[in-house]
Amino acid sequence: MKRVLVWVILFAMPVRSSLTRQSTRSASVGQLGENAQVRAALAWFAPNLLWINDQQGLLTEIPAPAFQEGQRAAVLKTLLSAAGLAVQVDATGNVIGELRGVNEKEIVALSAHLDTVFPAGTDVKVRHEGSRMLAPGISDNGTGLAALAAIARALHEAQIKPQRTILFVADVGEEGEGNLRGMRALVDAYRSRLKAVIVLDGAGTDHVTTIALASRRLEVTISGPGGHSWSDFGMPNPINALVRGSMRFINTKVPASPRTTFNLGQIDGGTSINSIPYQARLKVDVRSESETELARLESALRESMAAGVRDEMESPRDRSRGKLEWKVELLGSRPGGELAAASPLLAALRAADAIVENESRIERSSTDANIPLSLGIDAISIGAGGNGGGAHSLQEWYDPAGREMGLKRALLTLLGVAEVAPERTR
Ligand SMILES: [Zn+2]
Repeated sequence: MKRVLVWVILFAMPVRSSLTRQSTRSASVGQLGENAQVRAALAWFAPNLLWINDQQGLLTEIPAPAFQEGQRAAVLKTLLSAAGLAVQVDATGNVIGELRGVNEKEIVALSAHLDTVFPAGTDVKVRHEGSRMLAPGISDNGTGLAALAAIARALHEAQIKPQRTILFVADVGEEGEGNLRGMRALVDAYRSRLKAVIVLDGAGTDHVTTIALASRRLEVTISGPGGHSWSDFGMPNPINALVRGSMRFINTKVPASPRTTFNLGQIDGGTSINSIPYQARLKVDVRSESETELARLESALRESMAAGVRDEMESPRDRSRGKLEWKVELLGSRPGGELAAASPLLAALRAADAIVENESRIERSSTDANIPLSLGIDAISIGAGGNGGGAHSLQEWYDPAGREMGLKRALLTLLGVAEVAPERTR
């Protein structure tokens, strides 16, 4: 009997303390979930899911390669205006819809990037297979953009007045060589007032990105005199040198922890099969959880290319008729950063997860959130619900089943940090 009692006490103690924590948390969660206007906003999604699918399809079918987001931006401007927001397009091309809060000195931004990785001319027509929508860019970031418009609309229909001003932002330049220019400009413009940034990127509800992965994008260019394949044989060949250097670089050892990766993503050069090329170029993306590893990998690329050029010049042929020039340029650099575990933004996300009965894991990734995080501004990147796959490929797909939960999760997180103004202060 005594023994049983000890067991009970031992097991009850941690359980009870975690219950206490749970109930303190659910009190604040409950407040938001119990607010009639918030409930009305959440209820707006279910009857409008088909409309949201349609907007996603329409937006996806407007090509938006980096630096050519204008046409898609114009449609977002219309959608955000229809949600009662004061909308402007900034000098960078970001569409910014403002929902003024009681406190205009503090701003929370909800963003989704407009651009895709696909070049102009890519067939972006949406096909339907069962419940799936298929098109390049349908999920990344058709999902985020559709959610941005839907959440703005839901707050408008429920006549929610936030405590802090909310900016709904469809931003440019997230993918490829955009180098996060849209987010950089946004943070630059609102920096002193910006309290939190919530980035909607792609599908899903299984993760929350709180750690910004540092990355660098580099371009190698090797040039030579060029010539005829037969009569000038022996002349140094930039493609040969690039291949020799690439082979060396590919063999660079990278640690599993801190996780470090590289990708030879694009290669071009030469003018015809029977000409010795005068130029060869290679684009390389390197990422790491550690800035030190990143720097080491960048040095490895430079050393490999120097060696590749040397190997080409030293091969036993007559190289007297020309020499090679080479350079490595930095196309872009994304700074790293991390959201504090005790931040109100993460607490809001966890509270939203509790309300919608979702579980999500912390993830590290390279997203628009890198910019605010690197400057010490609270930021996360989350999926906007449903399921997707094949991002950055022509086989990209999105399945909207279960999207509603993702929309509610994002809306509750947004209002968790922006807060809903009490009726009397309006
Ligand atoms: Zn994306």
